[in-house]
Amino acid sequence: MSVDDYLARVLSLVSPTEIVSLRLTDSLGCALAENVVAPWSLPNFDNSSMDGYAVLAADVAAATADSPVALKVIADLAAGYITDLAVLPGTAIRIMTGAPIPAGTTAVVPVERTDGQMGTVTIHEGVDDGAFIRRAGDDVTAGDLVLPAGTVITSRQIAVLAAIGLAEIKVHRRPRIGVLSTGSELVDPGTPLESGQIVDSNSYLLVAACTEAGAIGDRRPRVADDEAEFRAAIDSAARECDLILTSGGVSMGAYDTVKAVLSTLGSVDFIKTAMQPGMPQGCGSVTVDSRTVPIITLPGNPVSSYVSFENFVRPAIRTMLGAETIQRPDRMATITEGMQSPGAKRQFARGHLDRAAGTVTPVGGQGSHVVGGLAQANCMIVINEGVSSVAAGDSVRVIECGE
Ligand code: AMP
Ligand code: MG
Repeated sequence: MSVDDYLARVLSLVSPTEIVSLRLTDSLGCALAENVVAPWSLPNFDNSSMDGYAVLAADVAAATADSPVALKVIADLAAGYITDLAVLPGTAIRIMTGAPIPAGTTAVVPVERTDGQMGTVTIHEGVDDGAFIRRAGDDVTAGDLVLPAGTVITSRQIAVLAAIGLAEIKVHRRPRIGVLSTGSELVDPGTPLESGQIVDSNSYLLVAACTEAGAIGDRRPRVADDEAEFRAAIDSAARECDLILTSGGVSMGAYDTVKAVLSTLGSVDFIKTAMQPGMPQGCGSVTVDSRTVPIITLPGNPVSSYVSFENFVRPAIRTMLGAETIQRPDRMATITEGMQSPGAKRQFARGHLDRAAGTVTPVGGQGSHVVGGLAQANCMIVINEGVSSVAAGDSVRVIECGE
């Protein structure tokens, strides 16, 4: 099955979670569930963009170093305060950045163009009418659509949501993704290795990737290649999670527990996808006590697991979050080394993208076990079906997935 058809199959298993209110500080990485309209304008009132003096521009138009203009300072206005006094000809009000513009003011003279004094201020350079005044609504106008539903919230969106006074926003609940590693050879980091054992890196990789995608990564107790144990683990995950991810046990070998159990439980299809790495995939759903939960079975090799997560799971999570954009950004880059690719499959090679130079270099060898190499990568180099090699200097598509 092609990567695109398999992605469509995975996406058909998921839908956006229910809408909840979240405090702004808890909403990072969620997607807005409704359009956000500005209840007031930004700025909300005319205010000074500089520390200086509120004046009549006409009073100071002719001011120069050789013939400065002196004005009587009738008030001092800090941000957060207002004054009833108005600026009249021959007078000024000292004003700080962000303070509301007093009545009568037609411009602000920055303090740098003055002697900075109170009592009488001497101005040695004029300003244009309207200078250094930030007008109400010049950023956002009351009633404007500030952010549309589906926008994923980063620090920049949080700033404007706070600025328009929202303490809580409506988002789709973060889905809980149960991450279940399988393999009798696996132990936890921190445990001494006996011969033949390796550390379970996938569950850590996948939980972190779920969190990065905006979901809750729930690392479930790892299971050995034992059908009863796996069945029990699926049973408990199905009760608590919105989506289950398994890693390992789906290839062609003996002891491929995941495949053996899920072929009989629920409706999970095991599919060979036309991609490298990550050919063996499985997805479907399991039903426990009339609760049906989607499940995606990822291959065990860490690089395959990661590439599969990026291609299928991340878009599924973003769909559950109600995100408008479910795909990572991609771009073209010039590859610095030639590469071979299986012509019948779409290859996702790990690369390091130099954004400034617009070049990408394959990293870490392309074996699907190379976690060290994976850690050097900040993108995947996509070599499409039908292409069996690229040469140094060719332009290739890369999917950005890291700094
Ligand atoms: P499997 O799909 O279970 O046959 O696993 C394929 C390869 O991936 C084997 O070399 C496994 O030891 C390795 N592997 C499976 N699960 C993990 C895991 N959670 N962390 C690291 N490597 C794994
Ligand atoms: Mg295994």
